[in-house]
Amino acid sequence: MPGLTAEEEQDLRGRMASVLARMQSASRKAAEAGLALAGNEKAVLVAISKRQPVEKLAVVAGAWKALAPDQPVIFGENYIQEGISKQEALRELLPNDPPAAVRWHFTGHLQSNKAKLLPGRFELLHTLDSLSLAQNLQKNMRTGGATAVQKALIQVNIGEEAQKSGVAPEDAAAFIKALAAFPAISVHGLMCLPPITGRAEDSRPFFYRLRQLRDSLERNLGLALPHLSMGMSQDFEIALEEGASIIRVGTDLFGERK
Ligand SMILES: *Cc1c(COP(=O)(O)O)cnc(C)c1O
Repeated sequence: MPGLTAEEEQDLRGRMASVLARMQSASRKAAEAGLALAGNEKAVLVAISKRQPVEKLAVVAGAWKALAPDQPVIFGENYIQEGISKQEALRELLPNDPPAAVRWHFTGHLQSNKAKLLPGRFELLHTLDSLSLAQNLQKNMRTGGATAVQKALIQVNIGEEAQKSGVAPEDAAAFIKALAAFPAISVHGLMCLPPITGRAEDSRPFFYRLRQLRDSLERNLGLALPHLSMGMSQDFEIALEEGASIIRVGTDLFGERK
């Protein structure tokens, strides 16, 4: 197993410290400006570890626990097989951690035919966007045993981009209503990936729009949708100001992906 050099480990610890500091100052600024929602300072970080070696995850988990012991350590994976092998490999690298010390979210596009691999392995699916996926999850929850309910967020194609997955904003209400037919899935909020422009401020209107959509869905459907998963390395401060409860950061925590 290729180990990391001392410099590489130091770099990862520095990155974690810097992301945590940026999170804290964005949450504080948002609260001062009256932009933050109640409880926004409790926003949760998910480290997006796709295409990063497991040795880096081990160092990041250690730095996270040392620097922010009150926060959960959560990794987000985008490819189901890669995610499952990394879960196993990380357990071997961190044999002294109790199994619940590291948590896992699924943040990539999940094909319906892979749905059976998810339950019991990933506590939150960020990207529920089709009834066929819901149907396959429901089926595998029934037969799979271990987990009774899969928590999920609805991915909304907030920029209405042809090439992106996600439910169209105007279809979100009907989609959530249709999910009532699948009791093994519990919906906890919305997720988005706004158009990529290279300028963080360009994301703000999309984050604002996702929050407005969430608020109107809560009113119209009479449901609680507490989570907004939005914001990545380049724009997570803006997302926090606009009410993100979960931010998903990859590059700024791990460095460039392979
Ligand atoms: C890769 C990815 C991220 C992280 O992106 P960075 O720019 O590396 O922070 C966040 N969310 C999703 C859904 C991703 O696929």
